[in-house]
Amino acid sequence: MCPRCGAPGLFAAPAAFAPRCRLCGCDFVAHELGARLLYPLIVPLIFGLIALAVAFDDAVRPPLWVHALIWPPFVALVILGALRLAKVAWLKARTDKLQLDKEG
Ligand SMILES: [Zn+2]
Repeated sequence: MCPRCGAPGLFAAPAAFAPRCRLCGCDFVAHELGARLLYPLIVPLIFGLIALAVAFDDAVRPPLWVHALIWPPFVALVILGALRLAKVAWLKARTDKLQLDKEG
């Protein structure tokens, strides 16, 4: 959702913003969270996922094909979800600050 006008369509791809809001023209790309800033989020997440996979293997001892079946989509979903959350939170914080700067 657009942080300025609330219109849908913030994301053009699963983890990439659309260039701008179709309704109010709010520039999303200017507020895109850079890859360099995403590493501190993604790297611990990957270690967490590896630990989770090891714990799951210890607990359940599933055959290898079960791992091959569940982990790729699970990891993709977790990372995409984290990326989207981080980007939306970042955009929200940036636009809130801009709004305050404009008013103050
Ligand atoms: Zn908008």
